[in-house]
Amino acid sequence: MTGMTSSERPLLNRRLAEFGTTIFAEMSALALSTGSINLGQGFPDTDGPVEVREAAVLALREGRGNQYPPGPGVPELRTAIAAHQERRYGLSYDPDAEVLVTAGATEAIAAALLALVEPGDEVVALEPYYDSYAACIAMAGGTRVPVTLRPDGATFRLDLDELRAAVTPRTRLLLINTPHNPTGTVLTRDELTAIAELAVERDLLVVTDEVYEHLVFDEAGHLPLATFPGMRERTVTIGSAGKTFSFTGWKVGWVTGTPKLVSAVRSAKQFLTYVASGPFQYAVAEALRLPDTYFTAFREDLRAKRDLLGTGLADAGFKVFQPSGTYFVTTDIRPLGETDGFAFCRALPERAGVVAIPNAVFYDHKDAGAPYVRFAFCKRTEVLVDAAERLRKAFAH
Ligand SMILES: *Cc1c(COP(=O)(O)O)cnc(C)c1O
Repeated sequence: MTGMTSSERPLLNRRLAEFGTTIFAEMSALALSTGSINLGQGFPDTDGPVEVREAAVLALREGRGNQYPPGPGVPELRTAIAAHQERRYGLSYDPDAEVLVTAGATEAIAAALLALVEPGDEVVALEPYYDSYAACIAMAGGTRVPVTLRPDGATFRLDLDELRAAVTPRTRLLLINTPHNPTGTVLTRDELTAIAELAVERDLLVVTDEVYEHLVFDEAGHLPLATFPGMRERTVTIGSAGKTFSFTGWKVGWVTGTPKLVSAVRSAKQFLTYVASGPFQYAVAEALRLPDTYFTAFREDLRAKRDLLGTGLADAGFKVFQPSGTYFVTTDIRPLGETDGFAFCRALPERAGVVAIPNAVFYDHKDAGAPYVRFAFCKRTEVLVDAAERLRKAFAH
């Protein structure tokens, strides 16, 4: 930037220039100004279990977590995270050396990438990707290499040959997300096996975002990448209380991995927030110990909501990609005679009184994402019934 005075220089640096605005702000504003039902941003419209909320109140009253908690997280929560991984997946982690509490999964992603990526390293990520991935790879000075999930019948699938071809000698890590936002794809055992074999063969690190681990609608349930052969020692697994317990504002997330990996991630994390969410950490420790009935009821509730909104969208004429996980449904708008998801989502509030998100915002290959639109179904049943009715009225004939 030689020859430019300070005031001529763009304020936002080059690494972040492409991430100037987020679609969520624009769409949420549109929802407000048009009185539309907001199925754009993915947060529940009811809070999680009352006993978990009360546990936070109690911690706050008793002065647990009101001052800086320990850097790695409060021991009660680290122990509960380790017990959860053991009980659900048979993965054993030492709560002291192999568990790190973060300010949501968002900080876990940022800290993992800032810690593990050297400028110039390539990071292979599934496209469409959660919006913070691209920004965090950029902040770490890495180069993102998207591998596009392709529509295949009623789902989006990973092309394993494309994935293998994306790995070069400069590849440092694979950034995986299963269950996958925004497509609702859950990677199969065969796909995960292939990813694991590739990581071992090319000696890659893996960061896997599994925040929707409790929202898998298939019989198989969630398969953590770290359980596959050769993976525990090279995988940073990211979880979060926000999605599982419907307290997205609490921002309690975590990382599990080997002592070396966790210690590397902690090196970055300590200079981001240092610590966060003190009293909430105690409450999440209790939430993780809720009986299986909680997790089953939560999943079944979301399954019914998936089917409710999915049916409404199909009746309205959308092609619906049936999500096997998460609380999002991706649709194809081409059967409605539309091709541009951005234009469609900008017009949708006026046309139907519903807000959705164009999947293209989650793509580098904008064309590949153009005809897809994402709806969130983590809303009260009556809200989804109303939304489905509005969509039917606006589009079905
Ligand atoms: C919501 C979400 C996150 C962020 O989780 P927080 O705990 O709220 O920071 C990360 N990854 C994916 C895929 C998500 O959908």
